[in-house]
Amino acid sequence: MKSVPQTLFVISVIIAVVIAFSAGFYTKSSLGSPEDTLVVGTSTPFPPFEFKNEAGEVVGFDIDLAREVANALGLDLEIRDLSGPVIGFDALIPTLGSGGVDMIAAGMSINSERTEYVDFSIPYYDANQGILVRRDSLFSCPSSVCEAEHLEGVKIIIQIGTTSQSWVESNLPGIITDPNRRLATDEIIQVSDLDLIIKLLLEGEADVAILDEPAAEGFAKQDIANLRVAGRLITDEQYGLVVQKGDPQNLLPTINEVITELMRSGRYDELIAKWFQ
Ligand code: GLN
Repeated sequence: MKSVPQTLFVISVIIAVVIAFSAGFYTKSSLGSPEDTLVVGTSTPFPPFEFKNEAGEVVGFDIDLAREVANALGLDLEIRDLSGPVIGFDALIPTLGSGGVDMIAAGMSINSERTEYVDFSIPYYDANQGILVRRDSLFSCPSSVCEAEHLEGVKIIIQIGTTSQSWVESNLPGIITDPNRRLATDEIIQVSDLDLIIKLLLEGEADVAILDEPAAEGFAKQDIANLRVAGRLITDEQYGLVVQKGDPQNLLPTINEVITELMRSGRYDELIAKWFQ
């Protein structure tokens, strides 16, 4: 099992290098971006942290947070959204640095596998995993707290390269995951793109989607979604903003100051109220 995240990482690096070269990022400054711009990588949809509004702009809690950081650094903000069926959340980390991205703001959970490759800010949000089902589903867990045993025999869909995938790999032994195939087995479907996950769930291709609880709630709130959150898996995750390993651009002191000051001043609560209504 250990080799799966590593294989995924290698694939993601290759994808990111291809994107970087095709977009000509290497012709720009050493930061991979104009000197006066903070390039922030994200991956929509992950409501309410990052999603596209009706005008097609990428907005959300993480985007406001990234703007606060850019303002504190005296830089313009450019959002680079890696989303779609091929390049998604799992390609974000390899885009840091030579891939042209200065910082990631993508509801990314701080964990030891990732800290081998990147540095995280102080935590800015606590989350568990959520179980998203169709509104008419009979799936349930006692007191809405789910355990691995409740998911046996249930057809699951997850997003590649996420902590949802790690949870499934560690807690549901017997499920075979094959990172080289988008549709791995009959029991578990792995997809890069949360839009596709929602579509396949609504079409009955899977019984449950496992994804971060706040994003699951975000999808369930969308009127057209016809979905509900049936329970949670207690994973005690914390989101951090992400920079290159060793922080060669020396961004972390400012990023951490911004987060601390937002929380101290009450502005953090205003942003929560704005995006989690
Ligand atoms: N928090 C989860 C992770 O870090 C999922 C994040 C996401 O899909 N944007 O893997």
